[in-house]
Amino acid sequence: MEQSAKTRPEGELPFNPHVASLPAYNAGMNIAAARAVSGHHDIARLASNENPDGCSPKVMAALSSAGFEPWRYADPACTALRTALGERLKVEPSHIVVGNGSEEMIAAISRAMLVPEASVVTVVPSFGLHEIEPLAAGAKVIKIAMTASLGFDLDALEQAIAAGPRIVFLSSPWNPVGPGLDRRELERLVNAVRPGTLFVLDEAYFEFADPDAPNGIELLRESGIAYVVLRTFSKAYGLAGLRVGYSVCSDSEVARVVSAAKTPFNVNAAAQIAAIAALEDDAWMKASVARIRTERARVAAALGKLGLRLAPSQTNFLFFDCGGESSALAASLLQAGIIVKAWREKGYERFLRVTIGSPAENDRLIQALGQLVSR
Ligand SMILES: *Cc1c(COP(=O)(O)O)cnc(C)c1O
Repeated sequence: MEQSAKTRPEGELPFNPHVASLPAYNAGMNIAAARAVSGHHDIARLASNENPDGCSPKVMAALSSAGFEPWRYADPACTALRTALGERLKVEPSHIVVGNGSEEMIAAISRAMLVPEASVVTVVPSFGLHEIEPLAAGAKVIKIAMTASLGFDLDALEQAIAAGPRIVFLSSPWNPVGPGLDRRELERLVNAVRPGTLFVLDEAYFEFADPDAPNGIELLRESGIAYVVLRTFSKAYGLAGLRVGYSVCSDSEVARVVSAAKTPFNVNAAAQIAAIAALEDDAWMKASVARIRTERARVAAALGKLGLRLAPSQTNFLFFDCGGESSALAASLLQAGIIVKAWREKGYERFLRVTIGSPAENDRLIQALGQLVSR
């Protein structure tokens, strides 16, 4: 391509320094790129926690029905979807805000709450956007490290939360590590929240958790604190490509300000129709989650036998210490046509995160790791 003859001197544009200095989001490689690099046509994409079962056939039917009108602007308030969610979750629809993925909700919450120098508490290793969106607003991010036994450091978290940050971003079950807070642990952290702090509990993997895991929406409703619980259709419901997630807020005031911080037509017509159809076919989601949980136990046992130290998982992925640079192992797996995610955060470069895929994909991963990991 022809380069423009004139080049601007570097540094001429006064970018927002908080945005210009952001770290890049560590997204999983796409299939076309993996084909080009590996020479394999059949790629196992185990880096982005997508659902190997696809999505409910009722979603595809809804998208080919007359109710889908791509030429019209979709309802900016997502009224039908919020009503369906309100009934399902026993929540006032006025407390729900729907986003273009829960990612957008993380951005909107940050925009709604943060000013430069405000402080935010999260964990490390972290879900990238729990750090990136606060940094974009000029906030300071305090990250509480996981313990040596690959769990939440509850003492340190309790202390950091009690210090009164503007926002606490916590995912439970925890991406990228895998464990979830139990009821007593979640209550302990919630009790540490002071007035002036918004507690954000990101439950992207809620559906994969143990049956006795706490339900954040129910637990927080009784707490009296200001909160947002995030849920998504991307993981258990298999709608990652359509982008739909939502905030369940403590009250309509939080919901109003989060809503004001998003773009008006954020959730497209396909996403709204698909999410309603997915929600109506809960049986599909539950059957898929059951298959994934069974596979998770099988893969964890096989990787454990290879001598890999795995974190306990209540999600659709496994996180483990691979004993050396995980980026080198990820590169070798890519040569075998398997995309995984090598962790890049400082101090965690020995960890690898792998999504639970189809049984055949998981077999392929187990076999490849068996050849690459020597014990
Ligand atoms: C996958 C994930 C999300 C993003 O979900 P989208 O709804 O697809 O934007 C949010 N939070 C965590 C912790 C995740 O792992």
